[in-house]
Amino acid sequence: MISEFEDLEDLLIEGNKKYQWKIVQEEETPKIDGPIPKYPVLILTCMNPSIDVYRIFQLKPGDVFVLRNAGNVYTEDVLRSVLIAIHEYNIKYIVILGHIDCGLKKIRLGVLKDKLNDSAIKKIGRYGTNFYLELQKFFKTFIDEIKNIENQLQKFRNAKELPTNIEIKGMLYDPNSGWVFEEKVFRKYSVYENFAKDYRKILKAKQFELIDYLEKIEDEIISGDVLQELEEPEIIDEDGEVPQVGGEMNDQEPFNVDVLEERTSKTSSFDDHNFDFEQFQNKSIPMPTLQIPKIYIHIPKIKVYVPVLYKKKSLKSE
Ligand SMILES: [Zn+2]
Repeated sequence: MISEFEDLEDLLIEGNKKYQWKIVQEEETPKIDGPIPKYPVLILTCMNPSIDVYRIFQLKPGDVFVLRNAGNVYTEDVLRSVLIAIHEYNIKYIVILGHIDCGLKKIRLGVLKDKLNDSAIKKIGRYGTNFYLELQKFFKTFIDEIKNIENQLQKFRNAKELPTNIEIKGMLYDPNSGWVFEEKVFRKYSVYENFAKDYRKILKAKQFELIDYLEKIEDEIISGDVLQELEEPEIIDEDGEVPQVGGEMNDQEPFNVDVLEERTSKTSSFDDHNFDFEQFQNKSIPMPTLQIPKIYIHIPKIKVYVPVLYKKKSLKSE
């Protein structure tokens, strides 16, 4: 079975229509503001489709270069792109982002060999007498994710073609938890097996980091603009007096409409269209009237979802 979808081209083109619809709705934009890339960073990662580099680092399109191949390995073609990124785009920082459970670790070369056509066999086997060794060299399979990252780092660091002022780091991604581990975290384990044995402990440390992070952003929220906007909503009672409510109310003058008008134009907290002065003057408003602080009324965009259009073939027909 190639795919459950009848037409893969349709699948992609329908997806692009959905994207265009979101552009029309202003939920998406193909435009990228500022320099490209935004940060002088290049990330080499595996082609595994579950790794969404932009998502896991909360980046946006245009932010960094991303290179991908099976197993995030150093190749001639990776070197080609890296040299362009460095010399044409001033990249200063390279990350080898490997991941747990890499498919390249699970490949059985004996089985794969039987699926290859004659041309592929010829291409792979033309240099050496040990065909399995040639297969391994061609597909760059490995048995250990951490060792693989270390090996690729070594190749980058030994590459004489690269300038010496480039920083090269390794990272390990866990597609199951979404955590990314820095080189300093996994390097001391040297092989993945040891890392896996300690994984609970490592995850716990990460979760503590998350608590610290949450506390930090919580402080930012509390000390930030939000509270400033929230402070001291003005309360005006039925008689037009500003009542004393414990806190500091410096505006003690008796109420009149002119003052209200002046305040309104100063603070723009009242929308003239929504405020009925006549009704207010008739004193038919029940007490007290609360002045609504600005910024809190958010009207979300109206979303219209495009229905899923691709057809599924019945499994029996495969
Ligand atoms: Zn992989």
